[in-house]
Amino acid sequence: MRTRNQRQRRNVLKSLGAGATVAAMSGCTAMSSSSGRYSRQYSRNPWVAPRISMENVIREVVGHRPYRPSGFVVRSEKLDAKTIVHNYGHGGAGITLSWGSSALAVRETLGMEHREAAVIGSGVMGLTTSRLLQDAGWKVTIYTRDMARHTTSNVAGGEWGVASAHDPEVSSPAFKSQLAFAARIAHHAHTNLGGADYGIHWTELYNLSDRPFDATPGSYDHLYPYQTELQPDEHPFDSPYVRVSLTMMVEPATFLRRLTEDFHQAGGAYVVRDFKDKSEFVAMDEPVIFNCTGLGAGKLFGDTEITPAKGQLVYMPPDPAVDYLTIGGGSDLLYMFSRSDVLLLGGTFKVGDYSTHPEPAETARMVAGHQRIFSSFG
Ligand SMILES: Cc1cc2nc3c(=O)[nH]c(=O)nc-3n(C[C@H](O)[C@H](O)[C@H](O)COP(=O)(O)OP(=O)(O)OC[C@H]3O[C@@H](n4cnc5c(N)ncnc54)[C@H](O)[C@@H]3O)c2cc1C
Repeated sequence: MRTRNQRQRRNVLKSLGAGATVAAMSGCTAMSSSSGRYSRQYSRNPWVAPRISMENVIREVVGHRPYRPSGFVVRSEKLDAKTIVHNYGHGGAGITLSWGSSALAVRETLGMEHREAAVIGSGVMGLTTSRLLQDAGWKVTIYTRDMARHTTSNVAGGEWGVASAHDPEVSSPAFKSQLAFAARIAHHAHTNLGGADYGIHWTELYNLSDRPFDATPGSYDHLYPYQTELQPDEHPFDSPYVRVSLTMMVEPATFLRRLTEDFHQAGGAYVVRDFKDKSEFVAMDEPVIFNCTGLGAGKLFGDTEITPAKGQLVYMPPDPAVDYLTIGGGSDLLYMFSRSDVLLLGGTFKVGDYSTHPEPAETARMVAGHQRIFSSFG
């Protein structure tokens, strides 16, 4: 019987397109030649391997993805005279889904005459919900325990990927279509904001696998242009199966800072407040309250399904010459994202783990795993 963590890790890898996980690398084609001989699918730059070593580690960070196996919650309910609109539980895909899920949340207000809202939370969901409300003419106040830079949203890796928002073996068909809808809206919104201003850019993503990729077209393939499977003589990775596509990288610190500025410029106000119980909402001035509290929604609203999925990232100095991302390439979850602020290694998704400390063994695993992945670059 597979544990929930094992099943989730397998689903994450599957939805990332990394295929099944196998430790043995016996089927690998050894790439001893220089990576300079391979051309790139999209970029015109040469291949450059990231400089990965324990000495280069500048920081290790931990965040708790607000994970619900059956998927995120967007719905409204009455609490005395107030309308509460929920928008929480996006697991490992909150940056990705932000605009889409928040558009669904704002849609819950259709037909209302009110134009004044409280938004609880200033992570990516609180900020995108607030901005969409402001665009529709609402007066918005954000009430939050933590400002954006102290949220889980600011810990995210930032790859635009729908993976790990839910457990496909648990979530309903209705949720899956809601997810597809939110992904489509979010994709449009993020592409509209592309550029350094919002910290969003397109980049090559290489999925590395020890097993053939699933031949069935994925539901989100159309959102990843240039998707191509490469032959062993077309890439420098020491991995038997490699698939390239283009994806967006959303740099969380830049994105959140810019959303916060936009919120202020549109007249939004902030109140720092830690709500202990949902009964406190009844006494608020605003008639409509958006619950964008991520993991905090569990305690506030008695949602027993939401649980942390602990993620650890290892930061190294940024390297602009590394202009691509990798996912996969080992017996466990591994990824390397090159951002303008850091080059990061990731690869943990520990469901139910509330601990907040970085684990040295995970750092060592991520560093060694990526050293092996890039050892064939020559
Ligand atoms: C290691 C890691 C890597 C990730 N990588 C990616 C990725 O590559 N791509 C991607 O799309 N997503 C990624 N994610 C997931 C993403 O970070 C989350 O899905 C997203 O941040 C959730 O946003 P949120 O606004 O719902 O929650 P949060 O960012 O947690 O914000 C919640 C807000 O609610 C407030 N709050 C909570 N409780 C209360 C209370 N009682 N009273 C007042 N305020 C309260 C908090 O202060 C905070 O402001 C990653 C996450 C982690 C940890």
